[in-house]
Amino acid sequence: MNNIPLFKPYFRKEEVLSEIGECLDIGWTGIGYKTEEFEKLWSEYSKLNHCHFLNSASAGLHIAIKVFKDKFDWKDDDEIITSPMTFVSTNHAILYESMKPVFSDIDESLCLNPQKLNENITNRTRAVIFVGIGGNAANLLEIKEICNQNNLILIIDAAHMAGTKWLSSNLHIGSEADCVVFSYQAVKNCPSSDSGSICFKDKEDDKKARALSWLGIDTNTFERTKSKAYKWEYEVDNVGYKYNGNSIAAAMAIVSLRYLDEDNKIRRNISEEYLSGLESNEFITPIIHDTKISSSRHLFQIIVGNQYSFIEHMSSHGISCGVHYKANNKFSIYGKYNLNNLDFVNYIDKKIISLPMHLYLSEKDISYIIDSANKFSF
Ligand SMILES: *Cc1c(COP(=O)(O)O)cnc(C)c1O
Repeated sequence: MNNIPLFKPYFRKEEVLSEIGECLDIGWTGIGYKTEEFEKLWSEYSKLNHCHFLNSASAGLHIAIKVFKDKFDWKDDDEIITSPMTFVSTNHAILYESMKPVFSDIDESLCLNPQKLNENITNRTRAVIFVGIGGNAANLLEIKEICNQNNLILIIDAAHMAGTKWLSSNLHIGSEADCVVFSYQAVKNCPSSDSGSICFKDKEDDKKARALSWLGIDTNTFERTKSKAYKWEYEVDNVGYKYNGNSIAAAMAIVSLRYLDEDNKIRRNISEEYLSGLESNEFITPIIHDTKISSSRHLFQIIVGNQYSFIEHMSSHGISCGVHYKANNKFSIYGKYNLNNLDFVNYIDKKIISLPMHLYLSEKDISYIIDSANKFSF
């Protein structure tokens, strides 16, 4: 019996242990040291400004909204336009700051539909969160344009987008936005144990975020031990959070980053095989990624007639599939924000499926997954 998981992170064990070993040897596992090394490496890799390593993308999304809310004096119940097709942390971040998530419909890319977004802008709209589902950047440039025209802040939830680049320039996505948030959570495509990062365009925003993610303290311990200043001297002018990343997670992320382009290429190859294998299947509609990008391909998603029966069918063949995501507007906590026309997301909510996507998939596994999927008719 086959047993093919949906995700399985591939860790280069010797390299990871060696990086972690360095932390243990010098006796530094917390903030600083490897976290700073990762920040430097990520900045060099992505060319994005001010990379700041955190314990998660969830923390980063919260910090992003908090920094902009304070900076621009946004009020409670001011609106942020967001996607219902995402992991809940995207939208929880809006609620943490007592602002109002305005769900706007997606299109076949599973990203925000620019036209619908335009219709949902009001005089209380302050920002847009673009979620690049599966690594896709569809409509991002159009949405950037809409944000410019309407003076809105653009935040990218790039939890799936580590390594997604524009083909024309070979530049990493993200410089379009005021702030980009990445995840290096255990089953994302650039995995650590659990961590993330936030890259602000503006230096002052980055500075505020660094204090906020470290309980409001204005300089971190490692920096203080390096400087000549009194080690115990620091200022606290804000109630911050314990959102910083640590050196063990950074050590793991450093190794994943080393192989990110290589690994994403394998993901894109797997996607190509899925696409051609499922091409003539009338019951399955694959989600196509934007042709202007080279996608990280964190996910390979399809639309089927019935999610439950497809998952059961694949599971009877020993294949685990996933659902990314349940439409957030359907969750009880978001019930009172379920106000707009969300026809498309409501239509696909019970039809969307993620096929296995990871580096342990063999050619044989991929063919077997395609064959099994093609035996499904509903
Ligand atoms: C995983 C994920 C997050 C949260 O990432 P963490 O690092 O686990 O906090 C946010 N948004 C999306 C779209 C995600 O998939």
